[in-house]
Amino acid sequence: MYRSHTCGELRIADTKKEITLSGWVQTIRKFGSISFVDLRDRYGITQLLFSENLNAQLDANPLGREFVLQVKGIVNERSNKNANIETGDIEIAVAEFTILNRSAVPPFSIQDDTDGGDELRMRYRFLDLRRSIVKKNLELRYAVSRSTRNYLHENNFMDIETPFLIKSTPEGARDFVVPSRMNPGQFYALPQSPQTFKQLLMVSGYDRYYQIVKCFRDEDLRADRQPEFTQIDCEMSFVEQEDILNMFEGLVKRIFKDVKNIDYTDVVERMTWEDAMWQYGNDKPDIRFEIKIANLKFPQHTFPAKAPQSALIAGAGFGVFDDAETVLAIAIPGCSEYTRKQTDELTEWVKRPQIGMKGLVFIKCNTDGTYKSSVDKFYDAEKLKAIAAAANAKAGDLILILAGAEERTRKAASDLRMYLADKSGMRKTDEFKLLWVLDFPLFEYAEDDNRWVARHHPFTSPKPDHIDIMINNNPVIENAADYLAHPYAGIKANAYDMVLNGNEIGGGSIRIFQRGLQEKMFAALGMDAEEQQHKFGFLLGAFEYGAPPHGGLAFGFDRLCAILGGSESIRDFIAFPKNNSGRDVMLDAPSTIDAKQFNELQIKLDIK
Ligand code: ASP
Repeated sequence: MYRSHTCGELRIADTKKEITLSGWVQTIRKFGSISFVDLRDRYGITQLLFSENLNAQLDANPLGREFVLQVKGIVNERSNKNANIETGDIEIAVAEFTILNRSAVPPFSIQDDTDGGDELRMRYRFLDLRRSIVKKNLELRYAVSRSTRNYLHENNFMDIETPFLIKSTPEGARDFVVPSRMNPGQFYALPQSPQTFKQLLMVSGYDRYYQIVKCFRDEDLRADRQPEFTQIDCEMSFVEQEDILNMFEGLVKRIFKDVKNIDYTDVVERMTWEDAMWQYGNDKPDIRFEIKIANLKFPQHTFPAKAPQSALIAGAGFGVFDDAETVLAIAIPGCSEYTRKQTDELTEWVKRPQIGMKGLVFIKCNTDGTYKSSVDKFYDAEKLKAIAAAANAKAGDLILILAGAEERTRKAASDLRMYLADKSGMRKTDEFKLLWVLDFPLFEYAEDDNRWVARHHPFTSPKPDHIDIMINNNPVIENAADYLAHPYAGIKANAYDMVLNGNEIGGGSIRIFQRGLQEKMFAALGMDAEEQQHKFGFLLGAFEYGAPPHGGLAFGFDRLCAILGGSESIRDFIAFPKNNSGRDVMLDAPSTIDAKQFNELQIKLDIK
């Protein structure tokens, strides 16, 4: 028997028991003729006491860090207790020990505040995984997965596997491809998601499906993306949007409860995509804090903003506002007494190349009801008061105004909003705020190709009362510059995203389930009948055999775990992640393959 207990298990009530432990040597401390060793396993750390009578044996078999050690001994109460660890009241008086395996000197210290850099720890990931901080992340991941499975099982969902070697699924990214030896010159694609399979399962009658599943997307790896990542993928039949929203806020609330012991009793807020873009400058707003963006130039509520212009700031002779495509304001509560140094610092922040603005205009809403601004020359007190009202500013607030090109300015306002919230501690990692963003546009316009692309994916249904707009209008855009005037620009999708603390954690849609409408959709995206048949003949065919109304969504599992763990990085929650260039530095993959493998595949390399 290698062990009677784990290294996290023994307590004061176990004193005088004879036990056997096995684990890894974390530290060795020698005090005169006795030695203390911390023995570690997945469950914790237990202190071992080697007394004088074992010295000869220790000299003959010296211990080292990360050696695998087995000890037999007696549990004793410690004189010097350690309240920081659960076994801190006891220690083991070692009677005999066996070195089960030796270890080379580890390349970094296996402790929470390790001395190992990122790259080194990735190369020795199997050692990094021994650190308790990393282990806690994987435990949290497992807890989220357990909670998910329990909830979905209780709600009649069935876990059904779908294949990895498939034909391309269009989720907007590039496919990873796998050559087929048995079909020379032909390739499988790895699924970007199981989208079409889960829809086929609905046609087959499995009306509640889920899978915690790997997805593969060959994208340029922006910060914190992984080429293979995990989704909680779900689909339901005979449902409307409302059913899906209810079922899956239930799932997230259950995860909060099971994993974080949080009773999320608030109603999950809902916001249209236009409101999100309008008031927060992006489609995944962090609503943990109440700062909103006001559009001073185009007060009517559309995105992108449209004429006519408001009289609020026009005609005062202030060229910066007059010439700008858009002018956006945010009011920061209680900051009217910012010093020159503080406002200069904000100006420098927005001028950084990543933000790219030319400057900031300030209006201080003093507590005595007066205003002080950097544009006093152009706007009198009456005007400043009107601007403050438009920006929803109160006495004591500081208004920041950005002016410039629509997209950049909106992004800058959104980034500034987050920056200010971070600066004043308004984004707390232990506070969770959920939000549904609804009513996305069905289409986006791809200027480079002068054509429509699906904003979510091509299987997403238009809102029921927008279906006719799609059917009755020709998708062709005559005048590219004027695409916003095309009826397709106004079609809203039956799609929804779940946002947690400013991160999109999930998204999905009610699907098209009629062959005719699906063909119309493919055609709108520029696919002729032949291409439709080649790429999606299987799905169109299936829709002829009694496809039920259905819809679903997928959660980004890695990201959800990272947020629940209070981390920015999904990598910390994946056992064997890839680095930012998509490499597994431990395996040294990707790598070349043997000439024999190329021969079998009948592939000849010709790298440009
Ligand atoms: N397949 C979609 C995605 O990966 C999710 C869905 O529509 O269910 O984003």
